[in-house]
Amino acid sequence: MALFEEISSESDRRRFNIKSPVTLESIGEFESATTEEVIAAVGRARKAQREWAQFSLADRAKVLWRWVDAIVERQDDIIELVMKETGKARNEAIAMEVMAPCMQISHYAKRGAKYLRTQKRRPTGVMRFSKKVSLVYQPLGVIGLITPWNGPIALVTNPLAQAFMAGNAVVHKPSEVTPFSAILLEELTQSAGFPEDLYQVVQGDGATGAALIDSGVDKISFTGSVATGRKVGEACGRNLIPVTLELGGKDAMIVCADADLDRAADGAVRGSFFNSGHYCCGTERIYVPEPIYESFVEKVVAKTKALKQTEACDGDVGAIFWDKQMDIIESHMADAKAKGAKVLVGGERDRSLPGYFFPPTVVVDVDHEMDLMRRETFGPVVAIQKVRDEQEAISLANDSDYGLSGNLWTRDLAKGEALAEQIVTGSVCVNDIAVTYGIPEAPFGGRKASGVGQVNGETGIRGYCHLHPIIIDTGKKAQGGYPYTRETAAGLQKLIRTVFGNRLLRWLFV
Ligand code: NAD
Repeated sequence: MALFEEISSESDRRRFNIKSPVTLESIGEFESATTEEVIAAVGRARKAQREWAQFSLADRAKVLWRWVDAIVERQDDIIELVMKETGKARNEAIAMEVMAPCMQISHYAKRGAKYLRTQKRRPTGVMRFSKKVSLVYQPLGVIGLITPWNGPIALVTNPLAQAFMAGNAVVHKPSEVTPFSAILLEELTQSAGFPEDLYQVVQGDGATGAALIDSGVDKISFTGSVATGRKVGEACGRNLIPVTLELGGKDAMIVCADADLDRAADGAVRGSFFNSGHYCCGTERIYVPEPIYESFVEKVVAKTKALKQTEACDGDVGAIFWDKQMDIIESHMADAKAKGAKVLVGGERDRSLPGYFFPPTVVVDVDHEMDLMRRETFGPVVAIQKVRDEQEAISLANDSDYGLSGNLWTRDLAKGEALAEQIVTGSVCVNDIAVTYGIPEAPFGGRKASGVGQVNGETGIRGYCHLHPIIIDTGKKAQGGYPYTRETAAGLQKLIRTVFGNRLLRWLFV
């Protein structure tokens, strides 16, 4: 049974129905925006942005703080709706979709003005005597935001807070399977007092996302799969607009021989099963040196068996958010089993529950011939591979098309930092699961197929700006230059020989 279905279409207006992955009952219907409606939304956003850009940074921050108030006040509505749409565990709905948005928005409300303060510079070299430089962070205009289904509030509020604080408007195309969360977000921004039309939602699937990229927006902020990211990158190239692509991952965890095995096993379980495994930086493959392998696996198995999965999603591991993902998980499991992998816990869809549930699963005897170790599974499955030593673990971790994040466990923190530098990925956490997205001081973004550009914090918010240099000449005399003569040409060449032919002078000159 498909959870997301097109039920009617008339030219490019289509009507969809979505069902809860937990109860399989309909949550509601919605219509996609037509191409004309997307273009009209961008036009309205452009007007609203002109008004918003006149707000001082301090006044923008006041509205962001009111937005946090609105989220705190309506937190029960957010939790219930997100659980209905996604089937994620209640505690995770609270932590990820209420707590994290409050932290993200508060961060930019408090620090945004500092990140965006105009910078005054004196040029180096001879220019220092006549020129002053101001670097002004100007908003880009209207941002097109395209988001996935695994964090329908948090993966929206984070780019929104940065884009708004920087003075932009946003037109948002949410995932087709979490449309109602975006409507609730629209209500929350309205009650916070953002100018009308500063944030607008255009509903639909990939076709609506593609229309948004072609609608005249000034930047695309995209989070989603590698396959879609390639199409989005191409379309942005055609439109000559900047883009950040936050894409999929196949994060590795490395357990060093000297690691605290209880902590590491906890990390393996949390990192793999958090958000039903629908976590872009989730741990998908674990490399463990031979001497500690048996004891580590034993601990992971015991901790996994203790996890609860319930029909009401009030246990530890929630439902699979979308049947499409269930198909991928099941196909990776079938491929691994056919190639000799051994399942120690879970391993098959739990059909005793009415909805889409896949139990937390531990798989061993895996290798890089299997999809489970090479392609993004994005489900509650952890695959553990025995390795000779830490160096083999690092080369296997790097043997991947992806490079989003990763984690490494050791008692020797200096060694941990040194080994982390050898892992070719967007970021690495030592002795914790991948938490980079939640730390704005750490720019977040993937390498290889996992993305283009970095987001969050100072780097991220400035990505929603054009850094506008204003150069002021402070001289009083006419600058002249004309007429050109043989003598002025010869004089210029002599200057080049004198200054750049002399090591000391060229050092002082620039
Ligand atoms: P997806 O790529 O299928 O869809 C993402 C969004 O793009 C949706 O809104 C979709 O409607 C839209 N879209 C589809 N085709 C489009 C097109 N041609 N042009 C424009 N928009 C289009 O991804 P998904 O299944 O919704 O999300 C899961 C993926 O997202 C996983 O790969 C996960 O790792 C990744 N993800 C990455 C991060 C990160 O920060 N790196 C965070 C969360 C999720």
